[in-house]
Amino acid sequence: MARAAVPRRLTWQVATVRETREETGTARTLVLDIPEWAGHLPGQHIDIRLTAEDGYQAQRSYSIASAWSADSKTVEISVQRLEDGEVSPYLTEVVEPGDQIEVRGPIGGWFVWRAESTAPVTLIAGGSGIVPLMAMVRARGRQLFRLIYAVRTPADVLYADELRRRAREDFGLDVHFVYSREVPAGWPVPPQRIDIAVVNTHGWPPDFAPDCFVCGPNTFVEVVADMLVALGHDPAKVRTERFGGA
Ligand SMILES: Cc1cc2nc3c(=O)[nH]c(=O)nc-3n(C[C@H](O)[C@H](O)[C@H](O)COP(=O)(O)OP(=O)(O)OC[C@H]3O[C@@H](n4cnc5c(N)ncnc54)[C@H](O)[C@@H]3O)c2cc1C
Repeated sequence: MARAAVPRRLTWQVATVRETREETGTARTLVLDIPEWAGHLPGQHIDIRLTAEDGYQAQRSYSIASAWSADSKTVEISVQRLEDGEVSPYLTEVVEPGDQIEVRGPIGGWFVWRAESTAPVTLIAGGSGIVPLMAMVRARGRQLFRLIYAVRTPADVLYADELRRRAREDFGLDVHFVYSREVPAGWPVPPQRIDIAVVNTHGWPPDFAPDCFVCGPNTFVEVVADMLVALGHDPAKVRTERFGGA
């Protein structure tokens, strides 16, 4: 195939790390400058390819955390470090501003939220599954959003300050945290796993025909998607993204 016929999103481009931000003790946001970036939709991801000096290559997918604006050539990703991982320790501990990495994208056409939609939205995140849902929160206009964010402890919350601020200030956005191992001081319930009662109470009811987006580790996504369907949500309106792992 002639090179010109390959869509740009499927060709590898060189991105420069403009900035890094520690989100938690184990997660970091990378701000990437991508000179030929043509834009993305909330929910899409990019592939990253790293090449060692001996030619060995490793490739992983990372959701885009930032909303896109027409004048922007910048993409933010947030990476959760897995201690025994191959790529995530490098992206969270070694990469510095000025470094260059190969990227391609945006990728994904199903797990996307479109700003022209007027339906209410239920977002349910497990751990780093918050990343593409944060892009949706950041791109939101006046649509009604309810976010349920399941984490182990308060120290594991990505975008903690921004979410607290948005929960206070952004009209039409509800944020509910579910802590499985440790709760903040004064929290009204002990540590709990997300269950059908939480989803029923803090998500939109099926009668409102919300668009539902669920993202996180494989098992989390399967369990939560089953809960939504059991509650009566139309399976066609339940969109899922699996990050891998248990
Ligand atoms: C579409 C898509 C979007 C993604 N977006 C993000 C994102 O925004 N942020 C992010 O941090 N990650 C994201 N991931 C996961 C990411 O692609 C890598 O899988 C992750 O960073 C682990 O890579 P690694 O090389 O460090 O670990 P590996 O060396 O690949 O794996 C190390 C060990 O961890 C296990 N493992 C792999 N992935 C996970 C996981 N997600 N959770 C728990 N255990 C796991 C493996 O089974 C293995 O035992 C996304 C994955 C997909 C498919």
